[in-house]
Amino acid sequence: MTDQPQELDLSAILDERPESDPTRRIYANGNLDMSKIEVVGFDMDYTLAMYHQHAMNELSIQATVDKMIASRGYPEEIRDAKLDHDFIIRGLVVDKETGNIFKMDAHRHVGRCYHGYQKLGDAERQKEYGTRPIRLASDRYHWVDTLFSLPEATLLAGLIEHYEGNDKELPWSYRQLFDDIRHCIDEAHADNTLKAVILKDLARFIQKDTDLAPALHRLRSAGKRLFLLTNSEHYYTEGVMSFLLDGEMPFYRTWQDYFDLILVKAAKPRFFNKDQPFIELDSEGEPVGEAKTLKRGLIYEAGNNRTFEKEIGVTGNGILYVGDHVYSDIVRSKKAGVWRTALVIQEMEENIRFTHENMLALKRIHNLEEAARRIEDSINYHLTLLKSLGRMEQLLGRLTGPESHVVERARDSAREEVENKRATHVQVLEELETLESSVDRTFNPYWGRLFREGNDRSQFGAQVQAYAGIYTSRVSNFLAYSPNQVFRSPREVMPHERA
Ligand SMILES: [Mg+2]
Repeated sequence: MTDQPQELDLSAILDERPESDPTRRIYANGNLDMSKIEVVGFDMDYTLAMYHQHAMNELSIQATVDKMIASRGYPEEIRDAKLDHDFIIRGLVVDKETGNIFKMDAHRHVGRCYHGYQKLGDAERQKEYGTRPIRLASDRYHWVDTLFSLPEATLLAGLIEHYEGNDKELPWSYRQLFDDIRHCIDEAHADNTLKAVILKDLARFIQKDTDLAPALHRLRSAGKRLFLLTNSEHYYTEGVMSFLLDGEMPFYRTWQDYFDLILVKAAKPRFFNKDQPFIELDSEGEPVGEAKTLKRGLIYEAGNNRTFEKEIGVTGNGILYVGDHVYSDIVRSKKAGVWRTALVIQEMEENIRFTHENMLALKRIHNLEEAARRIEDSINYHLTLLKSLGRMEQLLGRLTGPESHVVERARDSAREEVENKRATHVQVLEELETLESSVDRTFNPYWGRLFREGNDRSQFGAQVQAYAGIYTSRVSNFLAYSPNQVFRSPREVMPHERA
């Protein structure tokens, strides 16, 4: 007789780690072993520097409206539009043809859709978009995939509502209006209108995170080299980074000491797919000439990932890049150089908090969905049974005697069963709809949950899952983890393996 191996008591092991705050955790889509990462790079805007979104929206919209009036002949009236700064979230799509703004599911089908602040009904939405997936590359659509682009969509929706909501005809085509907004906002970024205001009052626009410097220091003290790779210009980078890091830790004279290489005005995604040369800058940010090699303590402009990898002597898999823009930071860097990727999603803290606050309701939603599915199966079963009984009656012809009653009784009871189930089904669906829309409203009154649409992940959620190795709400969350942490994705479960 063989001894049964004794079951190890796991409770001590599983209880050991204190539950960390879920809003500040780092989540993994794939496994990432930080001990294999030699070099960690950071984007600046919305990654190391977290902006106060409301203040940024207001500033960008103000500058855009000023430019539309001054240089594009728009009337003063556009200042009167009531703007809802909570209306636009990341992951929405602007339809330049119709002025509609919609959210997509993981398969790029149009879900919730608004015109101005008015929600389109199912029939109307169906008529416009049918069931075809949206081709995002088309010139007709503009994807709002960074927090930088929330203001332009906010302004478009507000202006459509201002005119059409008051029964006035919009004096411009939707496309022209949106293109003008985009043009003016780009100009405000390019001619430093916005940056000049931000630099004068950094605390109003940028969140100071006192854990940021220690988090970077912790990575460095484990022997990792850090670099900064931003699209912002030298002078702006200097202002923002000094605000974030100068004087935060002993032994670091300025923010530059945290980084082994500093690359500004990198023109991502071109940095990842074109061979731009590196330009060396002097301490004033003036170009000195093309750089032959990359040195610590100097600042470079432009550049490309292939030369960069050669210079630091580390290939893609040893580099982790942390950014906030799914396309130009994450998708491109992953495709071009197989860099490992971390995505910063500022909205996650609020999102996770709402998820926890609504946990009971979300469980109930899950159970209601499961109940609806089972009732549907049962209704189908009884309908099939009814058909077979009907056929049986026909085959047997006009029956007399006890047999006829048996078949008839079976049909009656199946019919009754179908009716009962249908009534329950209606009840379940009603509760589901009411509960789901009330939960969705707590996340966002217009769009519901950032990572979900209908029964599916949202397109934004699907992109995060497909391209971000790990994702988290802010860079300083690294502080709570060992610099050699192995981030593990949840075990993949196939439908037939679920409990
Ligand atoms: Mg950024």
